[in-house]
Amino acid sequence: MYKTPNYRWSWEKPPLPIPDVEIIKTIHTDIVIIGAGLAGMVAALSAWEAGARPIIIEKNWTFSARGFHNAAFDSKLHRKMGIEVDYRQVIRDWVRWSQSKVDEVLLWRFAKKSGACMDWLIDIAEAGGMQVGIWDGYYKGPDYTEYPVTHLFYVPGQPEISWNYGLSRILERNIKNCGIEIHYHSPAVRLLREKQGPVTGVIAGRPGSYTRYHAEQGVIIATGDYASNMEMLERYNSFALQADAQVYCPQETNVGEGHKIAMWVGAAMQKVEPHSTVIHLEAGAMSYFFLHVNARGQRFKNEDVNTQSKSCGKLLQPGGIAWTVYDANGLYDVQQSIARGTGGGLFWDQTERLMGQEWDLEAEQALLANHIQSGKVVCADTLEELAKKMKVPVEDFIATVKRYNQLAAQKDDEDFGKRSELLTPIVKPPFYAGRLLATILTASGGLRTNINCQVLDEDDEPIPNLYVAGSTAGGFFANDYPTICPGIGHGRCITFGRIAGIVAAGKDVDQVIPSRKI
Ligand SMILES: Cc1cc2nc3c(=O)[nH]c(=O)nc-3n(C[C@H](O)[C@H](O)[C@H](O)COP(=O)(O)OP(=O)(O)OC[C@H]3O[C@@H](n4cnc5c(N)ncnc54)[C@H](O)[C@@H]3O)c2cc1C
Repeated sequence: MYKTPNYRWSWEKPPLPIPDVEIIKTIHTDIVIIGAGLAGMVAALSAWEAGARPIIIEKNWTFSARGFHNAAFDSKLHRKMGIEVDYRQVIRDWVRWSQSKVDEVLLWRFAKKSGACMDWLIDIAEAGGMQVGIWDGYYKGPDYTEYPVTHLFYVPGQPEISWNYGLSRILERNIKNCGIEIHYHSPAVRLLREKQGPVTGVIAGRPGSYTRYHAEQGVIIATGDYASNMEMLERYNSFALQADAQVYCPQETNVGEGHKIAMWVGAAMQKVEPHSTVIHLEAGAMSYFFLHVNARGQRFKNEDVNTQSKSCGKLLQPGGIAWTVYDANGLYDVQQSIARGTGGGLFWDQTERLMGQEWDLEAEQALLANHIQSGKVVCADTLEELAKKMKVPVEDFIATVKRYNQLAAQKDDEDFGKRSELLTPIVKPPFYAGRLLATILTASGGLRTNINCQVLDEDDEPIPNLYVAGSTAGGFFANDYPTICPGIGHGRCITFGRIAGIVAAGKDVDQVIPSRKI
């Protein structure tokens, strides 16, 4: 929507201060961490280990956790498994991906510190009964490169307490065992700062019954991103508003409150706009490398790209509609490409498959059966019938499939240049079509910050005693979420959560987190 030059976004005018009469309690501590997500919980344990007394305040009734993948460079697991990666190349790719619109010092900070931070977390997870492996679903084809940097935490045979939920459960338990308080049902509504002085605390709670937290050493904002705030999406990345869906868990916790309370005391957002957004394909379609067609039944791209390119690319099609189409051999074709070592990729594969595990055809078939039952995938014995179920023009669709089969037969994609080994014909019934759904996971831009997680103002000066970690922080991603580094969203929560906790506690990061030689 067009905005006049005088238009003001709702958060641009700071709200009135909260009167003392509405504050019913005052608590003194060293550090207040806002948000019990991965970044906040890592920050709390790190600050405590560094000798401070932190308190976490969390607006929900429980901690937040989701997903599987956690990126780090050169962890002890990499060393144990003999996995060698050219990490300098990863950074170069990442910078190219962003066209240098990222703060490269933050990337190098991650590159050098993430290994030791992951080692610290592995120790905690293993002591809590979890195991750790490296994800094997990363894309191994030549067109864009993903790297084996992704750690998975799991309990064998117990998916319900595996992955990042299981990990966060252990972090919460450790936090409580250390005597660190987590105050649930405590939404932070204001930061306390006198003019240009340091941030001295937080006000949290609800009207009429607020608590004032005095934080001697600082406040760490770890409130997640703002993807559930449509106004902020419109301001910082309006393209994302075209996505089909948005998911988060717990749903709608990520509404940008941390960004706002920081801006009200002088914090600046990152300089680069629009912000990047994590928009993946909803897993149901299982798009793989198969033919994609739009609502007119026409092919429109080389399908051999990452999930983010697929979800964003399909939004450009009429009505934002696209399908992935394959035949009875489809999953066998995927199996072969995995076996050849040219397949994989985020959401092209089972998200939790570990190095050393076989790609599980039966599990994929079961998943497909589920998707057919839920209506995410349609299935038919003829292409005509399939086109009707997809509601695309039958003749155009059949002509597209015929052309695609011709390209497959000649092993040369003259139309979009896809690798010939991924041109698999669509000839054997039943035929399948999965609707591609672009789903926003997180908005990955945020507050301006430096390598010590200090929040910066418009002059790039640190605001004393105010820190940020996790997806509330900015400067790390641009243009698009770099799926070349699967799990980097969680990866930065771990590394910068740890740095924020240690710095806020007044300790030297280099003394506590040794740098890796990258
Ligand atoms: C379905 C899904 C799967 C994903 N899978 C992966 C994956 O496999 N790998 C990966 O790297 N990334 C993944 N991501 C992204 C990743 O989960 C996030 O980037 C990351 O977890 C953010 O962590 P965080 O600690 O910064 O924020 P959050 O986990 O969002 O935690 C922030 C916490 O702050 C609380 N909070 C917010 N405002 C306030 C307030 N005013 N006062 C008090 N508390 C407040 C929230 O309730 C929340 O508990 C996934 C995202 C989704 C949606």
